Amino acid sequence: MTGRFARATALSKSKCGSRNDGGASPDEELDLACACGRPACGEHVLITVETYLRVHADPDRFVVFPGHADRSTTAVLERGPVYEVVRAVSAGRTSS
Ligand SMILES: [Zn+2]
Repeated sequence: MTGRFARATALSKSKCGSRNDGGASPDEELDLACACGRPACGEHVLITVETYLRVHADPDRFVVFPGHADRSTTAVLERGPVYEVVRAVSAGRTSS
């Protein structure tokens, strides 16, 4: 039965490889460095292309590793499994 097992493995491999068939799809995940700004931070976030584009439509928004946002200068807008979307807030400035 080793032959049958080998064939099943080959099938699952080819299915996996077919993901990368040209062009970034909206649900494709990007591996980005955490944007918290800490010098010691080496974390990465996984975020879909769709979410990345949506977040960066606003220059005040950025993506950090969960828990890395500074609560005194940012507000968490959205929580994902391996990222948080935060927005820079300027405390003490009420010019609106
Ligand atoms: Zn970080």
